[in-house]
Amino acid sequence: MLIIGSHVSFNSKDQLLGSLQEALGYKANTFMFYTGAPQNTTRSKINDNLTKEALEIMKNNNIDYSKVIVHAPYIINLANNKEDDKYDFSIRFLKEEVRRCEKLGIQYLVLHPGSHVGLGVEVGISNIVNALNIILRDTSVVILLETMAGKGTEIGRNFSELKRIIDGMEKKDNIGVCIDTCHLNDSGYDISKFDQVLDEFDKTIGINYIKCVHVNDSKNGLSSHKDRHENIGFGTIGFDNLIQVIYHKKLEDIPKILETPWIEQKPPYKYEIEMIRTKKFDPEVKNKIIC
Ligand code: FE
Ligand code: FE
Ligand code: ZN
Repeated sequence: MLIIGSHVSFNSKDQLLGSLQEALGYKANTFMFYTGAPQNTTRSKINDNLTKEALEIMKNNNIDYSKVIVHAPYIINLANNKEDDKYDFSIRFLKEEVRRCEKLGIQYLVLHPGSHVGLGVEVGISNIVNALNIILRDTSVVILLETMAGKGTEIGRNFSELKRIIDGMEKKDNIGVCIDTCHLNDSGYDISKFDQVLDEFDKTIGINYIKCVHVNDSKNGLSSHKDRHENIGFGTIGFDNLIQVIYHKKLEDIPKILETPWIEQKPPYKYEIEMIRTKKFDPEVKNKIIC
């Protein structure tokens, strides 16, 4: 079954219930959210009544909550230990995020592995491994390492870097991967040859580690290392190649999440989900979103 949704908001008042309602408005059957603003540390207390109410509605709408995704805040950088207090902060804050996922009953937490900021890939990876082993010690939450575009000193720009992190994990059941089509393209994996990309993933890491797919077109070309998302069908990857990914037999039942840009303050997701469900690209879709 196609499990498709998008990034949605999470506000302190309506919390999971608000996120779910936004997703239902897009005719999605899954979604992803940050539990607070990704660039700061302000977090609301989770209200269990709102969670319960949301769970009930999900049941009635055949939404598999075990596949709903939380994205970790991007102020966290587990690769950089240049300053002890910053490194400790990242570990502490991600630990708190894991606790919030537990409270919400969320299984999957997507994480950008981190940027080594000049320390080198080797040191960066060992910092990430050390941090994740601490964070995952006493939880059932599964952290999904995202494939990165390779902007700056980002770690996770190829499958072998992710593999090295996974190899260092004490609890392999608590680690997985989220592949992002824009990031793959920008880091040099050709989505028009997706079977080959998946094969390489399988040989390097193992396809069973993929638990989430971020579906984005890219504003930039192969190996550009830029990380700028484009709306589905309007970028360098193109609609047909993204459809191949979304409907790939080997990725069936894995949640597909859109993180495409809003157009003039309007979310594109309802329209993009419809194009994906009908497998038909509408070149006029941007005008319809604005209307
Ligand atoms: Fe991400
Ligand atoms: Fe992503
Ligand atoms: Zn991105």
